[in-house]
Amino acid sequence: MANTSGRHFLQIPGPTNVPDRVLRAIDNPTMDHRGPAFGQMSRSLLADIKKVFKTDNHVIIYPASGTGAWEAALVNTLSPGDRVLMYETGQFATLWLNLAGRLKLEAEFVPGDWRHGVDPTAVKERLVADKAHEIKAVCMVHNETSTGVASRVAEVRAAIDWAKHPALLMVDTISSLGSIDYRHDEWEVDVTVAGSQKGLMLPPGLSFNAISDKALEASKSSELTKSFWAWDEMLATNATGYFPYTPATNLLYGLREAVDMLLEEGLENVFARHDKFAEATRRAVQAWGLEVLCLEPKEYSSSLTAVLMPEGHSADAFRQAVLDNFNMSLGNGLNKVADKVFRIGHLGDFNELMLMGTLAGIEMGLGIAGVPHQKGGVDAAMRYLEREATG
Ligand SMILES: *Cc1c(COP(=O)(O)O)cnc(C)c1O
Repeated sequence: MANTSGRHFLQIPGPTNVPDRVLRAIDNPTMDHRGPAFGQMSRSLLADIKKVFKTDNHVIIYPASGTGAWEAALVNTLSPGDRVLMYETGQFATLWLNLAGRLKLEAEFVPGDWRHGVDPTAVKERLVADKAHEIKAVCMVHNETSTGVASRVAEVRAAIDWAKHPALLMVDTISSLGSIDYRHDEWEVDVTVAGSQKGLMLPPGLSFNAISDKALEASKSSELTKSFWAWDEMLATNATGYFPYTPATNLLYGLREAVDMLLEEGLENVFARHDKFAEATRRAVQAWGLEVLCLEPKEYSSSLTAVLMPEGHSADAFRQAVLDNFNMSLGNGLNKVADKVFRIGHLGDFNELMLMGTLAGIEMGLGIAGVPHQKGGVDAAMRYLEREATG
């Protein structure tokens, strides 16, 4: 008999736990999306969401999952046959590459080992070699959710500048925005892609394109087919506080609340909180004698930690034991690391005791599933959190 009393622990790296405040905001009557109350709400929301991206420029909101915003970024700026440079950080980079291919773009992948982030030097070398400037965009995933590796966007920006290459820079921040420091304007990102269901603490269903002036300029000559995703109509109607088609009204109520929560806590405090929980998690993993998938400490993700199983042990069987016994969902291994890793989501609406519950469930699950490990991971995390407490 499965244990269903108490709260389910949703510790996958997205969708994340939705705070009660956000749930209550969503639970309001749907309003006329062409009426004055809606216009008032969306004008202030469209202004405040910019703070989360650290931009003064336009942020477009789509009623779609993150995949829609991936497509929107490409179809608004590029033309059929354009070459785009991508980097194989993991499954999400692979999916974006496949999407670009289906749009008839020439998508080029720099191979990676799923344990490192984007190598800025490799980007620099490839761009320097592209004398004819055939590459129209460099697309990267900031936080690769399949591996728990965070790439260094500022260094990739610097590599593009060093090569004096005109390519657009597009960054997927679906699992980093609102969890890991991100600066759309300062890093001169041309299109930032984001989604609602990870660091923004909302249910799935909204996604975003933050755009630069250069991207807007590129959109004027872009020839890929677009209609639903078209920026021009969206920007024209957003300017008055409205949308060209019915927006996801109730998710926008939730977004209003989530943005307020992030700004009340302060973005820098939000990032520090995520850094702390990630560090506590890694200390637990180390004490268990297990291995973090990410090999480069300066690329550790603060949103999630992917943990390698000892050889010959199934990550999925372990996750099943945790779900059956403790009503907690952990992230599975995707594609090349299927059944080899499990992922601990520690992003979004999350605190110390939720983390301790999560780590306790994992430590007990390792025992139940017969995975070789040492005890003491929970203790190591507790000692760290105790020291980090402000007293
Ligand atoms: C979740 C995720 C996506 C996919 O978004 P959907 O909402 O499932 O379409 C893309 N990229 C990254 C980095 C993600 O974490």
